[in-house]
Amino acid sequence: MKNTHICPKCGSHEIVRVPDNGRYSSGNNIYTSTVTLFGKIPVIRYVCTSCGYVENWVENSSELRKIQENFR
Ligand SMILES: [Zn+2]
Repeated sequence: MKNTHICPKCGSHEIVRVPDNGRYSSGNNIYTSTVTLFGKIPVIRYVCTSCGYVENWVENSSELRKIQENFR
């Protein structure tokens, strides 16, 4: 969905990218075990405006490395 911009559920091309700007992202961030050190990881959402399906992505590779190091 992130790469193809096609909804895997209904096949629609109406995909909207919703970035994590901090204000509307109360419950969907990934918290590392050492929150004080790393803070929270922003999660980008891709929403199908046709059927409502949502995918969550961590797009920043340095953030992904933090997650890998924390949860490995
Ligand atoms: Zn859809």
